[in-house]
Amino acid sequence: MDFQNRVGSKSRSGGVASWSESNVDRRERLRKLALETIDISKDPYFMKNHLGSYECKLCLTLHTSEGSYLAHTQGKKHQTNLARRASKEARDSAIAQPAIGPAKPLVVPNRNIIKIGRPGYRVTKVRDPVTRQLGLLFQVQYPQIATGVIPRHRFMAAYEQKVEAPNKAYQYLLIAAEPYETIAFKVQSKEIDRAPGKFWTHWDHDAKQFSLQCFYKSEKAPVLFEGMAAPGTAPP
Ligand SMILES: [Zn+2]
Repeated sequence: MDFQNRVGSKSRSGGVASWSESNVDRRERLRKLALETIDISKDPYFMKNHLGSYECKLCLTLHTSEGSYLAHTQGKKHQTNLARRASKEARDSAIAQPAIGPAKPLVVPNRNIIKIGRPGYRVTKVRDPVTRQLGLLFQVQYPQIATGVIPRHRFMAAYEQKVEAPNKAYQYLLIAAEPYETIAFKVQSKEIDRAPGKFWTHWDHDAKQFSLQCFYKSEKAPVLFEGMAAPGTAPP
């Protein structure tokens, strides 16, 4: 009887294993993307120790690979510690303010804002069901975003950035929101379709999530919609 139970539990755990495999696949994709888009050498908490493994100096955790560290930076523990660190630094700098002086509101220039690290994010490949265009949906979480700040974005050509050797095949999508570090996603340099409804951004103030969806212009002739001409293709 016990044996049968064990067999039963085995098959159940088999189901769990295949579920976690797909989760691993997803992590692997995120890891690859993070490796392409994040400059780990600029991360103040990333450290390679003398044993060849990796440490998060913020959370005091050990990681077997850069990828597992990168996955860790997207996790709750790291994000929570970043937020704690930021509020502590904010308290410390408040103490450092002079106690006397003119009674006017303290204006902190942007460049003095204490960065609290990178936000968590998710990137999903999307395909327009009608035009079959390929695109990407970016969702970035900013749980500790500063009051009154709305995330901003901008596309940057390969030659504009100074982090990597320029490669015409790529462009960068930058998303910024204080006090988080600006993050950049390295994407194909194909033209972005700016047609209404194709490109959109959304800031969900309650969920503290910034979303941006974009599609690449189709490589084939521009698709014509009823009652709407594609730019530059007006009949002669
Ligand atoms: Zn950490």
